[in-house]
Amino acid sequence: MDPTSPIRRRSFLKSLGAAAAASTLRPQLHALASLSQAPLSATYTAPPILLNQLGYLPNHAKVATVLLSKIPSQTTQPTTFRLRSENDAVAFEGNLSAPTPDAASGDTTTQADFSSITKPGTYRLEVAGIFSDTFAINPTVYADALRLTTRGYYGQRCGCNVDLGNGYKHPACHLDGAFDPTSGRTGALPNAGGWHDAGDYGRYIVNSGITTGTLLWAWEMYPEALHSLALDIPESGHAIPDYLAEIKWNLNWMLALQDSTDGGVWHKQTSLHFCAFIMPQDDHLVSEIIGTGSAPYKSTCATADLAAVMAIAARCYKPFDPAFAARCLAAARSAWTWALKNPNVAFNNPPTVSTGSYADPTCSDELLWASAELFRTTHEAQYEAALLDSIKPLLPNLKIAVPSWNNVASLGLWTYAFATAQKPTAVTAAIEQATQTAAAELIARIQTSGYGNSLSLADYHWGSNSNAGNQSLLLLVANRFQPDKATVNAALSNLHYLVGRNCFGVSWVTQLGRRPFQHPHHRLSAADGIEAPWPGLLSGGPNAHGGDAVANALPKAPPMRMWLDDQRAYSMNEIAINWNAPLVFLLAAANSNRA
Ligand SMILES: [Zn+2]
Repeated sequence: MDPTSPIRRRSFLKSLGAAAAASTLRPQLHALASLSQAPLSATYTAPPILLNQLGYLPNHAKVATVLLSKIPSQTTQPTTFRLRSENDAVAFEGNLSAPTPDAASGDTTTQADFSSITKPGTYRLEVAGIFSDTFAINPTVYADALRLTTRGYYGQRCGCNVDLGNGYKHPACHLDGAFDPTSGRTGALPNAGGWHDAGDYGRYIVNSGITTGTLLWAWEMYPEALHSLALDIPESGHAIPDYLAEIKWNLNWMLALQDSTDGGVWHKQTSLHFCAFIMPQDDHLVSEIIGTGSAPYKSTCATADLAAVMAIAARCYKPFDPAFAARCLAAARSAWTWALKNPNVAFNNPPTVSTGSYADPTCSDELLWASAELFRTTHEAQYEAALLDSIKPLLPNLKIAVPSWNNVASLGLWTYAFATAQKPTAVTAAIEQATQTAAAELIARIQTSGYGNSLSLADYHWGSNSNAGNQSLLLLVANRFQPDKATVNAALSNLHYLVGRNCFGVSWVTQLGRRPFQHPHHRLSAADGIEAPWPGLLSGGPNAHGGDAVANALPKAPPMRMWLDDQRAYSMNEIAINWNAPLVFLLAAANSNRA
């Protein structure tokens, strides 16, 4: 399968979007017009010098993009730049790179590389008398960003009182749950927690799978950044570290969607259609457990995703909560058994349901991931045998794909390589080699990008910012296999792009950086009566393919420019738990000395 196919990404979101347009946006527009006249959108003019608005780590690469077209005309075009320290002294003077056209943005850009400056401090860049914003160089420059984006998950909690401070709060929501007839069951059930998926209030196992798996991988790979991270959540101060406590909120909901009689997992829990743009406690549509509509009612992708995630959780929680870890492992085993018996049960929205479908006709990658995580946790031969059976057909031409919600194969391959690190085999050597090949391609793109990201022109599809995040995840895994500072610098380069070094000069994370975007497609942010959106959430980002009325009306432009900070533009400016996860992973690496 093609993991980065924009069509596959859109096939899910199109249905989400169409329903949102029909059922939610008009009520929201009406509500805003009658209450506050709050703006729905904002536009941005990029400053001449674009950089990471949070600053830079002392011992890693530091490159800013300069738009000479925005520097007042000189008799000769500037060829040098200066780095000025707090007292305005010149800390560094360097040459600008030659102006080069950038296809992704349509801009002609030059680069100012000041990587050699490692002294912590506050600086500004200067080109021909034009100054950048001030920025920091110091080792903790991304600490607040990690906390903010991780805490963003607390803001997405369902079923409990949420209070992020500064007025960002709501009482418990969606307390009325029930089995929809498509689940093969009837009756009510209490709220089991979980995170609201995105701008809507649904909860979806498949998307929870990659989200929670990515976050738990970060826990395993960057312990020094996450084990003592203080999140100020209701569980803070308890025995379980904050980061794991937050993730447990979602794991508990995932476990609730497993059928205890056979181990299968229902696909999602949402209302039958999207609610209006209202606060979650005001959404009284019943949150239904939705199945496939016919026996066996559960879906293979959801069940295999749960098996993978619970196998990881069994490893992560064992030192802190052994009983929960044992429960997770038992859930993983029974899910795996069900998925083996039912390897091809696809999910599509029943006719009565119009929320996101997360339909994925190919579950072989989810099965691969599940077997790999179960093997890594248990070292049992049955899981390795299943895993090797899955890998065998891939081996003649093994390619590592950037992970996405509908393609988790590389997570399975990587986990197998990590599990056998002490006893490498021809298979694990092939996995590592394919990872280095994929990483090299991303690094090459960064070197020719005007804004230093690793996105190809084709990568600017729905959720492109998460694609950049997941490309960094790939780079960081490659670095774990074969440590190389150039690989880490490449991963960080996407972070710089996401928080300021882009053609809008915007930070695509709410309440982060000097110019964060303001109008996410996010019900909480729209309905809470507070001007600024809920903090720590990543915009989907540029999307060259449209998908909603506002996006479709945008004049055609180079792909990076196909973005609007507009609450209505859900194909360009929604937020989602699976988009924040690779950003948290990247920030955990950035806050780690082991990246
Ligand atoms: Zn809720």
